[in-house]
Amino acid sequence: MKKILTVLGARPQFIKASVVSTQIADSSSLDEVIVHTGQHFDANMSDVFFEELGMRTPKYQLNINGGAHGEMTGRMLIEVEKVVLSERPDIVLVYGDTNSTLAGALVASKLHIPVAHVEAGLRSRNLKMPEEINRILTDRISTWLFTPTESATKNLLQEGVSETAIYQVGDVMYDVALQHGAKVSPHGGILEQLRLNPKQYILVTIHRAENTDNDTVLRRIVEALSSTANSIMPIVWPVHPRTKGRLESLGLLESISADVLLVDPVGYLDMVQLEKHSSLVVTDSGGVQKEAFFHGVPCVTLREETEWVELVEAGWNQLMPPTSDVETIRTAMRHAIKKSPIVVFPYGNGSAAHEIIKELEA
Ligand code: UDP
Repeated sequence: MKKILTVLGARPQFIKASVVSTQIADSSSLDEVIVHTGQHFDANMSDVFFEELGMRTPKYQLNINGGAHGEMTGRMLIEVEKVVLSERPDIVLVYGDTNSTLAGALVASKLHIPVAHVEAGLRSRNLKMPEEINRILTDRISTWLFTPTESATKNLLQEGVSETAIYQVGDVMYDVALQHGAKVSPHGGILEQLRLNPKQYILVTIHRAENTDNDTVLRRIVEALSSTANSIMPIVWPVHPRTKGRLESLGLLESISADVLLVDPVGYLDMVQLEKHSSLVVTDSGGVQKEAFFHGVPCVTLREETEWVELVEAGWNQLMPPTSDVETIRTAMRHAIKKSPIVVFPYGNGSAAHEIIKELEA
């Protein structure tokens, strides 16, 4: 039996890990121990995903959150190392690009335990993003680099990574979306609770530091969303805790139009229902950009660049730097609703988790 120690801590990681963890549970040669760093800890940012997606409860809950990046990562290194030393796993498995990803990979590699990185090879080429630093460093010290796309594979090859370490398996988020997307109805559920009509609302999420931590940019986004909701169609915005804190401290909550429906973060199944039946997704999230596409909805991404370049090329996603003026942002949203992008299949065939398990078993 090979022991896999999975280190995770943030919302998108619970969603990505859900498909892999349920398949590890079915494997006769793999055993999994989950370590939750505590990076995301609210019930609606963490517990709900374990419950809804049928994941095993983490054996370790480290409760590490808050503080600056160095402090958070440093505390994770200390605590994850203790767990790894006592569990002595054969493989450490990490996902994506958060501080929990880097901490898990760094601890393991220094203890000479091979690291498997799911969602390897993504690059924004913007080193100001903490996520970009976490990705590059994690990829550099990983043994198995599981890439979601052709472009991610190319990035690694360009950086000199050996072809034999790269496994282009497809995107685990696509696996999850396929499992749950078919089940959601255009009626009832959260749509009824929020009195939203299918294809008559825009779904928004904002949480990247470059948008939330810059006062001018956050004000611009709020203004553009209010103006869009007043003149085009209502907006529903599940507000990330970080963004909520910033909106409160800048006194922006009162200025937001009543047609922008601010709600707490929602569970994954509610999110899929909101995504699938929206007319447009506006986001700065990596995962939500792709999920819009998985559910056939166009997307405007409020960022300068994206790691998911294939969706921009195919016309599913339009980048809109949030430093643009309000009218430009609003016009981009209006045009995006009417788009008919071309059909593409860049994320594999929904068997990414299966491919990952096959490789780790071997
Ligand atoms: N998500 C969710 N509820 C929300 C907002 C997002 O379940 O209120 C899900 C979303 O469907 C996607 C993931 O969280 O699967 C994306 O996470 P996030 O935007 O926090 O991180 P990123 O993808 O940018 O790393």
